Amino acid sequence: MKALCKLEAGPGLTLTRTRKPVLGHNDVMIRIRKTAICGTDVHIWNWDAGHSRRSRCRCTWATNMSARSSRSVRRCGASRLATGSRARVISPAASAATAVPGGATCVAIQSASASTGRAFAEYLVIPAFNAFKIPEDVSDDLAAIFDPFGNATHTALSFNLVGEDVLITGAGPIGVMAVAIARHVGARSVVITDVNDYRLGLAKQMGATRTVNVERQSLKEVMEDLHMLEGFDVGLEMSGVPSAFTSMLAHMNHGGKIALLGIPPDNTAIDWNQVIFKGLQIKGIYGREMFETWYKMVAMLQSGLDLSPVITHHFPVAEYEAGFAAMLSGQSGKVILDWMQ
Ligand code: NAD
Repeated sequence: MKALCKLEAGPGLTLTRTRKPVLGHNDVMIRIRKTAICGTDVHIWNWDAGHSRRSRCRCTWATNMSARSSRSVRRCGASRLATGSRARVISPAASAATAVPGGATCVAIQSASASTGRAFAEYLVIPAFNAFKIPEDVSDDLAAIFDPFGNATHTALSFNLVGEDVLITGAGPIGVMAVAIARHVGARSVVITDVNDYRLGLAKQMGATRTVNVERQSLKEVMEDLHMLEGFDVGLEMSGVPSAFTSMLAHMNHGGKIALLGIPPDNTAIDWNQVIFKGLQIKGIYGREMFETWYKMVAMLQSGLDLSPVITHHFPVAEYEAGFAAMLSGQSGKVILDWMQ
């Protein structure tokens, strides 16, 4: 089968041919239709320090994909997923999934997926438990971005947003999806910051009340414009940039709530006085909730949530280098590679 592999310990991936995976007991084999390139894939493409320590060479990558179960489903007797039904993999790694109690975040599963994921390939074998059935009215493109959409959903729905003023720092794909979710569930205003105008443009298309390029404009000015004199009720940190989090803490209302998804550098210091004297609640977010987040994502899409602006590029898999170049340029939302073309 065709697969994108890391053949050398260095930047890049190679489109090559590899053996079709072997089906084990209680597994399903799925045929990948589309993969979306995610931030971790870009780190692995670049062979960044940290990711190169955690990842293996000579294997395939990707955790964002949509797929259709193949004929092998019938052979392995996994009756939950009929042959030919569309599936989204909760995690490609994941024999550990059965050990995760209902409602727990999928911590073990996610870490494993970064080192053993194989969705950059025509076929993928996973434990049947990890296949989430996608309703027919959800497109393959959207199914391919369920991973980051899940991060956005789990973070944005951590606190009640109805009627609240929400600050999102970081207009990467996850931040802009969080804008759409916050609007969809009834936030009063959604202000988003970044330093990248292209991405702030996407956030505007997703329904942001105001977009703020913090290199040119102060958040304080925007808050005054919106008559928000007391600060934001809810903060969603989605940049991983320490100065963005510092600014968020400074612009929160008393009793404000913050969900922290962005991963800051080691030993990042924060102003604890802001946290203590404003009585802020801070919740760390890792991954998504099994399976609650997935049900919520489908329910929001079926009730009109529109995420289409976040998917900005499509390439046949043979043009994967152009796909990664689009991701590396910073002038993209989600980039989809099509395995059927
Ligand atoms: P991304 O890197 O595409 O987006 C981050 C955005 O932050 C970029 O658009 C960047 O321009 C912006 N930014 C840079 N400086 C800024 C500043 N001073 N103020 C505001 N924004 C600024 O990342 P993504 O894929 O959208 O993911 C968002 C974050 O979530 C990343 O830090 C990622 O590592 C993290 N993440 C965490 C989990 C988890 O389980 N906790 C899962 C997935 C991603």
